[in-house]
Amino acid sequence: MALLTERTLLGPGPSNPYPEATAALAAPLLGHLDPEFIRILDRTCERLRTVWGTENPLTMPLSGTGSIGMEAAFANTVRPGDVVVVAVNGLFGTRMCEVASRYGAEVVRVDHEWGTPVDVELVLAAHPSPAIVAAVHAETSTGVRSDIGALGAALRSRSPETLLLADCVTSIAGDTLEVDDWGVDIGYAGTQKCLGVAPGLAPFTFSERAWQRRVENPPVWYLDLGLLGAYVRGGPGGRAYHHTAPVAMIASLDAGLGRILDEGLPEVAARHRAAGQMLQDGLIDMGLELFAAPGHRLSQLTTVRVPDGVDSAKVRAQLLSEYDLEIGAGVGEFAAGVWRIGLMGRNAAPERVELVLGALRRVLKQHGAL
Ligand SMILES: *Cc1c(COP(=O)(O)O)cnc(C)c1O
Repeated sequence: MALLTERTLLGPGPSNPYPEATAALAAPLLGHLDPEFIRILDRTCERLRTVWGTENPLTMPLSGTGSIGMEAAFANTVRPGDVVVVAVNGLFGTRMCEVASRYGAEVVRVDHEWGTPVDVELVLAAHPSPAIVAAVHAETSTGVRSDIGALGAALRSRSPETLLLADCVTSIAGDTLEVDDWGVDIGYAGTQKCLGVAPGLAPFTFSERAWQRRVENPPVWYLDLGLLGAYVRGGPGGRAYHHTAPVAMIASLDAGLGRILDEGLPEVAARHRAAGQMLQDGLIDMGLELFAAPGHRLSQLTTVRVPDGVDSAKVRAQLLSEYDLEIGAGVGEFAAGVWRIGLMGRNAAPERVELVLGALRRVLKQHGAL
């Protein structure tokens, strides 16, 4: 069988997995109720708690990509007519509005200029006591980090009943994440960004406060946290079958998490910061202009403006065909005006930065842009 071409994946995800995560996919398959697998599942949930910075008992991988976490979050907490304030500073905030409204929320959308972080005062001013406030920690569409800790602290003192929901798909294992300290009640993530595992699972965490306020019979069955919790946490009667856990993916996530925790969470975050800084310095040196607001730029995902007169898609196609190197296009109105370069997981490394800077410099020279 022909193997696929090996690419260097420096787009907005998926990233190249950690080798430990890839190797785990080839291990002998276990049944989803096998005691040996249950031990792996328990360890995965424990490792996820460490990476999230939480003690929430309900912390687990959901079966599906990052978006299933978004779906589960709203499906289990929104009652028709609930006010949900969503901070929108990029594509994923827009999506949260869409998903929340499908579950009957009265969505109060707080728009920000793309490329800027969430403004805590603006979000607080949108409604005095919403059921939920939702925001994206690391906006992959724009390359911006928002201060979720500041939002959480402000909410706790102003409207303690409000649940805080954070999209952490691109921040988990690529940046500091302290769900409990920040007052985040519901968090979801994905495996294929900084966790360095193939796409397919959505790490999820749900606080005790959120559990008290959850919808008992949500309008979805597959994502009912009551039913999922009975399998993941077990109960008086043992583990109840709900759906077949994706055992190979969970074993792969467990291995990826093991690799990350062996390196150390602060070390992993520092490695992402160093790589991002090196890339951003290099792009500026080349004369290119970064898109995200200074001081709020993600390390793991850099947005850079396409120079005037350069065909964005042609450059990306050339990087792919000549260097087996993938970078991302922009999103929405910035689709052709911005490139997105990810340095996630194992790709947060100086040699990857040198590769993309060298390739980009050569291709841009050919296009007459440097
Ligand atoms: C990638 C991403 C998602 C969606 O995750 P999928 O795995 O594509 O379903 C959601 N939010 C953010 C911030 C992301 O970067």
